[in-house]
Formats: sequence, C-alpha cells, structure tokens
Amino acid sequence: MGDFIKNKARPEIFTLKPYVAGKPIEEVKRELGLNDIIKLASNENPLGSSPKAIEAVENNVRNMHLYPDSNCFYLKERLASFNDMDAAGILVGNGSDELLKLLAETFLNRGDQIVYAQPSFSEYGFVARIMGAECIEVSLSNFTHDLEAILNSINDKTKMVIICNPNNPTGTIVSASEIESFMSKVPDDVLVVFDEAYCEYVEREDFISGLKYVQAGRNVVVLRTFSKIYGLAALRVGYGITTPAIAQAVEKVTEPFNVNMLAQVAALAALDDTEHVQKSREVNSLGKKYLYSEFDKLGLYYVPTDANFIFVDVAKNCQEVFKALLQMGIIIRTGDIFGYPNFIRVTVGTAAENERFIQGLTQVLAL
Ligand SMILES: *Cc1c(COP(=O)(O)O)cnc(C)c1O
Repeated sequence: MGDFIKNKARPEIFTLKPYVAGKPIEEVKRELGLNDIIKLASNENPLGSSPKAIEAVENNVRNMHLYPDSNCFYLKERLASFNDMDAAGILVGNGSDELLKLLAETFLNRGDQIVYAQPSFSEYGFVARIMGAECIEVSLSNFTHDLEAILNSINDKTKMVIICNPNNPTGTIVSASEIESFMSKVPDDVLVVFDEAYCEYVEREDFISGLKYVQAGRNVVVLRTFSKIYGLAALRVGYGITTPAIAQAVEKVTEPFNVNMLAQVAALAALDDTEHVQKSREVNSLGKKYLYSEFDKLGLYYVPTDANFIFVDVAKNCQEVFKALLQMGIIIRTGDIFGYPNFIRVTVGTAAENERFIQGLTQVLAL
C-alpha cells in the first residue's frame, strides 16, 4: 500500500471488510460460459418486479433529464398512509443500506458502541466501522436473536442496537413477547433499529413490527425495503419509519436527490400492487414447504424460516458445494461468510427453480 494512503486515509478505512455480494448472473455467464443460470443467492423476488412498477417505469423513462423530487413527497405520503404513520417520520433511501449508513453518520462517534447479532446482516458492522464505532456482536442462540444477551451487553457507551427481524441469514424471528420484554428494559437513550427487510414474508402469528414503538414515541427506527418482496432490487429504494425528530436529524446528512425518479415512481406503484405481493407470498410459502420436505428426504438439517431464504446444513464444505452447483448454473450463498462453513443459504425460488436446485444439490451431495 502506498504511504499516501497509509498516512492520510482515515484509520477507520483499514478496519473495513469488503461486502461479499451474491455472484451476479452475468459474471457466471462470462466466467463459465453458461447460459441458463438461476440465482438463489440474494433473496430477490423470483417472480420479478411488480407489473405495475414496470409500467410506472415505462411511463416515466422520458423524464430522465430532470432531477428527481429530492424530498420524495408522493412516496413519503403514500408510505405514511400505508403504514398509518406520520409522513414527517418517513425516510427514503438509496436502498435501506443507505439508511443504515445515514443512521451511522447521524449518531455514531468514534468510541461509541453498537450492538447487533452474529451472524446477521454484514452492513451493520460496515457502517459502524466507517464511523469508528466499536461493534459488539452477540451470538445467536439456537439461530435466533438472544435479546437477553443483547440487553446484557448494553452499557454507557452503547448508542445503537440493531435487530434484524426476520434475521438474515437464518430467517428466524424474535417473538412479540420477546420484543415487548426487550423494549421494556432497553434504556430510552439507546437507538433501537428494527431491520424488517423480510417482514412481508413472515408466517408466524407471534411477529410484531417495531412500528408500535415508533408510534409510542420511542427512539426507534424501522427499516423496510423495496428490494425483496416488491422485486425492485436494481432500482435501490428502501425506507425508514421513525419519529419526526430522528427523521429530521438523519435528513441533515442525506445527499440531495439520493433516490432516483424511476425508483420513486416504481416504489409507489409496487406498494399498491397487492396482487403481486400476495402471489409472491404464496409462491414463497409453497416453495418453503417443498424445500423443507426435500431437505428432510436428504436428511439435512435446516433452520425453519420466516423469510424467503433457508439456512441449511449441507454437512459438507460449503465452498465445494457452491462451486459444484455453480457448474450447473445454480448460484447460492455459502455459510462460511457467516461463520458456518457447512451451511448454505438458498433463496426460495419459483417451483421450477427449487426443483432444479434440489436436483443439483442431490447430485453434489452424492459426490
Ligand atoms: C436485503 C437486505 C436489506 C435491503 O437492502 P437494500 O439496500 O434495501 O437493497 C436490508 N437488510 C437486510 C437484512 C437485507 O437482507
């Protein structure tokens, strides 16, 4: 490394680990010369975007020379009514990833602590380290957030706690009663972030959103995204729901025009496409059951999921399984990046994709 970077870059830069993204389809095509590829690696919607969102984008492509509405006025209004919340507490971001970074920039100083689970979404550590905050990673217990242990790790330095519910990569939720008990004990001056990127897929009855705590005026942010069930991952749009005071503070560090116009119109349309959301949920629910039964037949342990992906113990080195599946044009996620070298994380696809994945996996495990 050049001396210039070593001496002049902020020291926080050297604490960052690169984000490991799902392998893109085009990259597999280039590298392996394959054509027919399925990606079950990034929890995208296998049915594609909402048709209404596609239509909205088509109707607006002629306006690309104009800057978008910096304030996302219509989208915020719609998100407020959709969630029965105050529009003054809605934040819209270039993906919810951006909102995580904005929250870190708004709240975290060098030396502050942030608490989240391990394994969970890697962005939490990334945005905290950029700001020089100290990451306290609390191990999952039985693949689920251990809210008692998280509470016990809170001290005077704790600025923020992030609960990923359902959790990525395990798909588990923390129940309503666990959240109630947690929120009754967590100090008021700790910001609690509920990342609910997969909440639309939850099937368990005892799930609650963090929204009620925002309504109660607590220092809480609920994060949602259009990248998963709404099928708009490429457009990069996510949102946060919080108190007007927190929203105002976060807006101070937000770039103007952070959410592009096509993303805004597509998100608006996707929110109204209840048919697409419903269908996506059904396909996911059926796909889950199919995959469970096939994993059972193969004698594989899996974590029952409330999201659109399954964390499964393939009892074999995940890198080997990944490479062998890739040769068949099937992209999945390895568990080693989450600390589970014999696990993979697979997105629930369409029925045809799930069958192809199971056929491939069956072959790989027989090797
Ligand atoms: C996919 C995902 C997000 C969404 O990220 P976007 O930036 O909105 O695409 C957020 N949190 C978790 C846990 C995720 O898995």
